[in-house]
Amino acid sequence: MSNVIDFSKAKDYLKTYGNRDGLSVEALLDEQLSGGLTYNDFLILPGFIDFAAEKASLESKITRNITLKTPFLSSPMDTVTETDMAISMALLGGIGIIHHNCSPEEQADMVRKVKKFENGFIIDPVVLSPTNTVADVKAIKEKSGFCGIPITETGKMHGKLVGIVTARDIQFHQDDSSSLKDIMTKDLVVAKEGVTLTEANNILASSKKGKLPIVDSQGNLVSLLARSDLLKNQNYPLASKAPDSKQLLCGAAIGTRPDDRDRLELLVNAGLDVVVLDSSQGNSVYQIEMIQWIKKTFPKLEVIAGNVVTREQAASLIAAGADGLRIGMGSGSICITQEVMACGRPQATAVYRVSEFAAKFGVPTIADGGIGNVGHIVKATALGASAVMMGGLLAGTTESPGEYFYREGQRLKRYRGMGSIDAMNNKSGKDGNAATKRYFSEGDAVKVAQGVVGNVVDKGSVRKFLGYLHTGVQHSLQDIGCRSLAEFHESVANGTVRFEKRTAAAQMEGGVHGLHSFEKKLFS
Ligand code: GDP
Ligand code: GDP
Ligand code: 5GP
Repeated sequence: MSNVIDFSKAKDYLKTYGNRDGLSVEALLDEQLSGGLTYNDFLILPGFIDFAAEKASLESKITRNITLKTPFLSSPMDTVTETDMAISMALLGGIGIIHHNCSPEEQADMVRKVKKFENGFIIDPVVLSPTNTVADVKAIKEKSGFCGIPITETGKMHGKLVGIVTARDIQFHQDDSSSLKDIMTKDLVVAKEGVTLTEANNILASSKKGKLPIVDSQGNLVSLLARSDLLKNQNYPLASKAPDSKQLLCGAAIGTRPDDRDRLELLVNAGLDVVVLDSSQGNSVYQIEMIQWIKKTFPKLEVIAGNVVTREQAASLIAAGADGLRIGMGSGSICITQEVMACGRPQATAVYRVSEFAAKFGVPTIADGGIGNVGHIVKATALGASAVMMGGLLAGTTESPGEYFYREGQRLKRYRGMGSIDAMNNKSGKDGNAATKRYFSEGDAVKVAQGVVGNVVDKGSVRKFLGYLHTGVQHSLQDIGCRSLAEFHESVANGTVRFEKRTAAAQMEGGVHGLHSFEKKLFS
């Protein structure tokens, strides 16, 4: 009789074991016991699966007022984020932060291109007059990439709409000096001002035209709709867009010196949604004054401040008005700050300490530096980060700046720290000295490097790579038993999600081992 085991009681037995298996996040990060930790020092214990991985939501805030469908930001580094990267990041549900190691005009131009890439109603379309020529249209195509041009009597918005010129009108036209009045289409399908975006999209879809001009009751042009935007909306359901304009969200980094105020003005005029104050040590009087000035001058602009790794640093920036915090000092893959400055903090501890504090004020945090794989993203969010910023992981993609080259049979691209001597001397042909400012060294006779120059392997298109990161994180959340990042944060805080520290041997065990050789292909 006593030998018969009642299996149905297995779950009840858990109670006799008292506390849950594994460690709570507080116990894991107890610095008295284990010092500062980083991502590879621990694992998350599995939970219970009762949902499909694809159902897991990665929606998360990056600032008080910006929520994204995927918690991914690309670093403001000159080998990571320019126009192409920022467009792809936003199309796939994240956001790109355009670097500032270039002139203010160049940076603003990049922001403008991202904002123009997708639209609902285009409220400031390029317009020409009937007396303009085919050459003018071709010049616009060359500069801006589109050539669907409404023609008004005045050649300006709010003039009387008299025709439209599109790619097909000029494609095989030999004489560049022809006037547009001779080639434009005059028989137009238009919609009246006041039409909703959905209604206008329906008209556009049924008209089978490429463009739909919107006119007021006098027939004056008020905006334009492009069929290609409907397709973009269909193809990229996660895209990060402004709710009204449907333009992609775009971020940019600036420094904290007086001339950065002029730079920011240009960026805001180009449509910037969020500014990142780019300092390696964010707790400075310059940054506090800058946040206060921005909040007064551009109250609608979201400000991500940083970088910080301690609660005290975070408190200063939150008090100054930061909408989000960027966490990390010395954890970046190209970074030598901890070695040279003896300043910084192991990243897992930094993310946990700052995020726990910032959460009390509703300020989201971004784990920046040291994200080397999908697991690191999950661990950063487990420790309270709302999102992650990636440099090295996104470098080497088609959309990152720079040319590919071959070395020892491998296709590579350059990836350099913004505190490397190379970046501080700005050997890119671009104007600006942002890199020296980030490290407060523009006046120094000797420049002390805080980063290195390196190369990374070709990763293909970031559009595919981000899909891999997204799906990877969803599978991880499924293993942990959380249906969303929000539930994950909650379950870590209330002690349901548990952790385990890893010894050095355990870390070896967790990697591929015991093979003569292997190929590590991460996704297909
Ligand atoms: P087009 O037929 O050559 O004009 O080009 P598409 O319609 O294929 O692409 C135009 C893209 O550029 C759309 O995503 C528009 O939202 C965007 N865009 C931004 N500003 C303008 C503009 O002033 N005029 C036009 N035609 N498109 C613009
Ligand atoms: P929802 O689609 O009902 O969730 O609401 P949205 O605000 O996303 O979209 C409202 C309408 O705008 C729908 O008809 C969408 O297809 C359309 N829409 C969304 N994004 C874009 C865009 O970038 N361009 C255009 N032309 N339409 C869009
Ligand atoms: P990664 O994703 O490659 O590990 O790290 C990228 C992050 O490293 C950037 O977002 C930025 O915060 C930081 N970073 C970029 N360049 C340098 C540098 O030269 N020195 C240091 N200390 N950090 C850098």
